[in-house]
Order: sequence, then C-alpha cells, then structure tokens
Amino acid sequence: MISDDEFITHKDVPGPTKEEIRCLVMCKSKVSPEDIVVDIGCGTGGLTLEFAKRSRLVYAVDKNLDALNTTEKNLKKHKLDKKVQLIHSDALEALRNIETFDILMIGGSGGDLPLLIEEGYQKLTQNGKIIVTSILLETPVEAVQTMKKLQMDIDIVDVSISKGRVMKRGTMMLARNPITIVTGKKN
Ligand code: SAH
Repeated sequence: MISDDEFITHKDVPGPTKEEIRCLVMCKSKVSPEDIVVDIGCGTGGLTLEFAKRSRLVYAVDKNLDALNTTEKNLKKHKLDKKVQLIHSDALEALRNIETFDILMIGGSGGDLPLLIEEGYQKLTQNGKIIVTSILLETPVEAVQTMKKLQMDIDIVDVSISKGRVMKRGTMMLARNPITIVTGKKN
C-alpha cells in the first residue's frame, strides 16, 4: 500500500483516499492481475494507483482536469503510467465508451449513481464487482437499492478509522470521517 504522504496533492482535488480505506477497497474488490478496472472520479489517484499495481489495465475517469493532471503526476512518480488510460469526461459518457470491465470503482458520481450502476452492470463481466465508497449518508442507500434491483450480491461495510499520534505524555487517537463501502457482485 502506498503511504498517504507519498502522493502529490492539489488544493482543488480531493484525495487521496486514506491508506486504510484503500486497503479495504483492494481487499473487497479481490482485484487480480488479469482484471480491467474503471475508476470513476479518480481525484488524486489514490485508488487508481493501487488498482494499477494489481490489475491489467485501469481506465481513470474524472470531469475535473486538475484531478486528471494530479493522477497523472502520481502515476509517473510511482512508474505506473503505462497501466492507466486517463479519460477527461463525465462518468456516464465515459462508461458508455468502454466496452467491458471486471471492476467498476465509483468514488464520485455527482448525483448520477443509480444510472452509473445500471450502465456499469451491463458491461460488467460475470462475477464482476461494482464498489461505491461514500462519505454521504444517502449514497450507500441509493447504491444498495439499485444493486438489489439488479439482483447483485451486496456487501456493506461502514468504517471509522482513528489514527494514533504519539506524543510525550501518551498517544492521542484522532478520528477520521466514517466511510461506507458498498460492494455489489454480478451473478
Ligand atoms: N478516489 C480518489 C478521490 C475521489 S474524489 C482518490 O483516492 O484520490 C471524487 C472525484 O470524483 C472528484 O475528483 C470529482 O471531480 C469526481 N467526480 C464527481 N462526479 C463525477 C462525474 N459525474 N464524472 C466524473 N468525475 C466525477
């Protein structure tokens, strides 16, 4: 796993997804070296880079050009740029132009989540997975409802990570925002 401080960041781009969350997403995705991955909302490239290390090809999509540039810088820094195709586009349009994939990662959707899941499901290989990470309360509900309609196998994890800061007097635990990870498997 790449450390959080090894990423180049940009003031207008969210991410990277924190190391412990990236760890869980990789674990839930069960990504393998033959897989094709689509990362919707690549942001800083936190998840794009982790998938690139473990899969055949990643399509990294973002509507924000600063996000794509930041992801590209991080890919070059970690020598993973050959594994990733960067796409500057809205999520839905990008999905319509990609033929097939094994994992669809949705880390940003801008309100199109049910449509994105439905469109993604059509192109997902059998046993393929759709993973949605969210900090908003409503997003996991929408994801579960849509995945249920598509009769996917659904896994939901809600995590609250605290990190310890070692000080002279003792260790202070600092809480981070809770994150929900919804994973749907196509049967
Ligand atoms: N997983 C990333 C952080 C994602 S932040 C990391 O680890 O670095 C969410 C990103 O989703 C933002 O960069 C935002 O621009 C993008 N986004 C939101 N809605 C989008 C949409 N409809 N199409 C494309 N990108 C979108």
